[in-house]
Amino acid sequence: MQTRILVIGGGFTGIASALRLARKNIEGVHITLVSDRQHFEYHGALYRLVTGTSPLEICMPLREIFKGTNVEVVLDTITTLDTTVKIARGASGSKYHYNHLVLGLGAETNYFNIPGLKELSFGMKTINDALRLKRHISEVLLTCKTGTKEEQVCATNFVVIGGGPTGMEMAADLIVYARKIAKEHGVDPSLVNVEIVEGAKRLIPTLPEAFAERLEERVRELGVKVLTNRVVEREEVEGVYLKDMELRTKTVIWTAGVMAHHLYREWGFSVDKRGCVEVDEFFRPKGMTQVYVGGDAAIAEYWGMAQTAHAHGEYIAEVIASELAHTTAPVFHPKAPIYAIPSGPGWAGVLWGKTTVYGKTGWFLRRLVDFIVFQWMLPFRKAWDIFQSGRTPSDACPVCSVEIGSANGSHHQHSIP
Ligand SMILES: Cc1cc2nc3c(=O)[nH]c(=O)nc-3n(C[C@H](O)[C@H](O)[C@H](O)COP(=O)(O)OP(=O)(O)OC[C@H]3O[C@@H](n4cnc5c(N)ncnc54)[C@H](O)[C@@H]3O)c2cc1C
Repeated sequence: MQTRILVIGGGFTGIASALRLARKNIEGVHITLVSDRQHFEYHGALYRLVTGTSPLEICMPLREIFKGTNVEVVLDTITTLDTTVKIARGASGSKYHYNHLVLGLGAETNYFNIPGLKELSFGMKTINDALRLKRHISEVLLTCKTGTKEEQVCATNFVVIGGGPTGMEMAADLIVYARKIAKEHGVDPSLVNVEIVEGAKRLIPTLPEAFAERLEERVRELGVKVLTNRVVEREEVEGVYLKDMELRTKTVIWTAGVMAHHLYREWGFSVDKRGCVEVDEFFRPKGMTQVYVGGDAAIAEYWGMAQTAHAHGEYIAEVIASELAHTTAPVFHPKAPIYAIPSGPGWAGVLWGKTTVYGKTGWFLRRLVDFIVFQWMLPFRKAWDIFQSGRTPSDACPVCSVEIGSANGSHHQHSIP
C-alpha cells in the first residue's frame, strides 16, 4: 500500500517540504499538496507591488513549481482535521487521508481588537491587499485636487503602523512613489507626508540598535516622519488616534501584528500567545506523531522569516524520509537569517551575522536574496525570468492609466477619463 504524505499550505514551508520529498523519489510514496491558492505569493516583494513593480514577481503558479515532480497539487481550503483517524477535510467537500501530515498554514494579520483597524486600515499580507492599497493611493491623490487645503492635507498623509522591516520598507518606497503620483495628478508633491508609528522605543526593535539607527536615518532622509513610543488606540474614517495624539489621514497601513493561522487554535494544538504551535525537535506538535508544523506557525528560533520557514520545510522532509527508511532523523540546526531591508528605490540595509552593508551594495544583495528564493522553487531559467520581471516597472496609475514619469522626467501616454 502507498504511503500518503499530505502537505497543507502552498507557502514556504509547504513548498520546501514537498519539493525536498519529491526530489528524494521515495518508492511507494504519494505526495499531495493542498493550498487555498493556485499560486505561491512572495511576501518579500509585496511592498514593491504597491509602489509600481510588476505583480509577476510576487506570484508563482504552484503547477509551475511542481512541474515534472510527483507532487499532486490540489486547490482547496482545508477546514477540519481529525488526527485520530488521519483525515483532513476541505471546503470543497473532499476528504484527504494521510499517513504523514505537514502543516504550513502561515500567519494572519492581528489587529489586537483595536477599534476600527480591521475595517478601515490596509493590510500587507496578500497580493489583493497590495493591489487594493495601490489603487487607493491613486484615488486619494486624484480626488484631493478639488478639495480644501485641510482635505488635501488629510488625503496626502499616509500613516504606516509598525516600525518593523515591513513597515520600514513600505514607508520608504511609499514616500517616493506617492510624490511621483501626486506630481502626475497636479497635486503639490511637497504635501505628501508619510509617518511611521511604532509602539516600542525605536524602529526594528528586534534587530541590533546600530543597524536600526542607520535604517531610521535613511527613512528620515527620504522625508518619512518617525513616531516611536506611540500606541494606536483607534481608527476612524479620517484619522487614527494614538495616546494623546491624532493623525488626520485617509490611509492607515497596518504592519504591526501577525498571529499564527487561527485553525491551529481551533484544532486544539497547544499554542503560545501568538497562536504558534509548541513543537518538539522534529517539529511535531506536543504529543503527536506523523504530524509536523513549520514556518510562521511553529514556536522556533528566528521566527517570522521566509528563510526560517523554508529551512523548516526542508528539515521536516528529512524527518519524514528518515521515518520511512527507519533511520534516525538528523538534528536541526537553526541558521540566523540574512536581514536585507530595502529602504527606498535602489537602497537597502543588510545584516548578515555581524556584517552590515548599506546603500546600493545592500540593494544588490537584497536582489540576490530575492533571486535565491526564486531558485529554491524554480529551475534557473524560470527563476531568472521571474527575477527580471521584478525589474520591470508597472508604473501606470491604476486609476487613470497615466504612466508615471520616468527618472529622466519624460512622461508617456495619458488617458484620464
Ligand atoms: C509584507 C511581508 C514582507 C515580508 N518580507 C520578508 C522578507 O523580506 N524576508 C523574509 O525572510 N521574510 C519576510 N516575510 C515573512 C515571510 O513571508 C514568512 O515568514 C513566510 O512566508 C512564512 O512561511 P509559511 O510557510 O509559514 O507561510 P506562508 O508562506 O504564508 O504560506 C502559508 C500558505 O498556506 C495557505 N493556506 C492558508 N490557510 C489554508 C487552508 N485553510 N487551506 C489550504 N491552504 C491554506 C496560504 O494560501 C499560503 O499559501 C514577510 C512577510 C510579509 C507579510
